[in-house]
Amino acid sequence: MKIALTVGHSILKGGQRTSASGYINEYRYNKALAPYVKEELELLGHKCDLFICPEYTFTNASQERTYKLPKINNGGYDRCCELHLNAFNGTAKGEEVYYYSGDSTGGSIATIMSKNIASLGFDNRGAKGTRNLYMITQTKPTAILVEAFFCDNKKDSDLANSVGYRKMAKAIAYGLVQKTYDGKSGGGGVVNPEPPKENNTSPQTSNAGYYVKTSTKGDVLNVRDSVGNNGKIMSTLQDGSIIYVESIHKNTSGTWYKIRNRGYVHSNYCVGISKPMIVLYQSGANDYNKKIADIIGERHNKPVYVEDKTKTSKDYEIMYVGGGKDRYHTAAIAADKYLN
Ligand SMILES: [Zn+2]
Repeated sequence: MKIALTVGHSILKGGQRTSASGYINEYRYNKALAPYVKEELELLGHKCDLFICPEYTFTNASQERTYKLPKINNGGYDRCCELHLNAFNGTAKGEEVYYYSGDSTGGSIATIMSKNIASLGFDNRGAKGTRNLYMITQTKPTAILVEAFFCDNKKDSDLANSVGYRKMAKAIAYGLVQKTYDGKSGGGGVVNPEPPKENNTSPQTSNAGYYVKTSTKGDVLNVRDSVGNNGKIMSTLQDGSIIYVESIHKNTSGTWYKIRNRGYVHSNYCVGISKPMIVLYQSGANDYNKKIADIIGERHNKPVYVEDKTKTSKDYEIMYVGGGKDRYHTAAIAADKYLN
């Protein structure tokens, strides 16, 4: 069989991992585990391609989907499997395996894989049919998503460390081709646990340098004078505003983006930009709109066009000058040229 194996999640451009973390980091664990799974599948006589999202490239987790799906759906695969770890409240533990509900092959794989992983000592939460996860619903081959254990549970994480990558890989690989594994043969593959977390409330800062779009479901987004929800509100951004993220700041209140000359916004209300970005200005009223548009275009290296209805948000992310679409913000972007 030809099998696509994918590692869930990625490391975004700013360094944030989109995965869960606890005693073990989900992405880091699965990235290390994946080559063992591929090797076990090959030892069983199957072909396996491994897909891991590029690191420090995407600005948003949704780009993981657009990266992986065409590769899986155009690759002529019989099966695909994505590696994940669970996290909940620190107490929940065990393994579970998802499949497309109604798919009898998927159900059989998930049941066998669950038993295989449980044979390593993890609680068997079982095979779970779903029609929710994109790696299950939008993939052509028979699709499996495995949550091997809870990475925020101490017992599960200690067990995963002592089991090692090799046995976990066997449990998953054997399950994927509907073979049972008793958890006995094989061994090795030392797990690197996550370094202990610093208990630090002062923000950790990293550089950014890219655009995102605010996404507030019609509401406005507050721009604050400091990192955290207690920061004074300096201004607001309309839904769909394009903002330039200068740096990223994390503390216990979450991840915040610094917008140059304006303040901080919470990253939960921002999404990545995937379409090409252009500057559109409204002509007619005066020539200031064109002047500002030209300044933004030059400063940010984006093409500038007069608004004539031929360029729409269907094909472009548009930064408007004039026309009431957050003029204050476009002026602030233009002002970067003079203030820095
Ligand atoms: Zn996950």
